[in-house]
Amino acid sequence: MSDNYLMKPCPFCGSAGAIEEVEGAIGKAWSPYCSAALKEDDCILGHTLLSFTRKKEAVEAWNTRAKIIEDVSYVRIEPSLI
Ligand SMILES: [Zn+2]
Repeated sequence: MSDNYLMKPCPFCGSAGAIEEVEGAIGKAWSPYCSAALKEDDCILGHTLLSFTRKKEAVEAWNTRAKIIEDVSYVRIEPSLI
């Protein structure tokens, strides 16, 4: 079985998605992130705090996108909350 997966571009900046193996408290895990986080022009997303024990799960989570709804109602944010 192939260990290579296709990752969608970052939903915030369009840069390539990336994944790295990390060592955490529970052992080896996989963490998806935006490749622009490694450059000077940081992406607003940067590294995610999400990690998964299986690489396939990490890639699937990264590739998940919300359905685009054209007729969306925006929520007004009160200036005192900004
Ligand atoms: Zn990005």
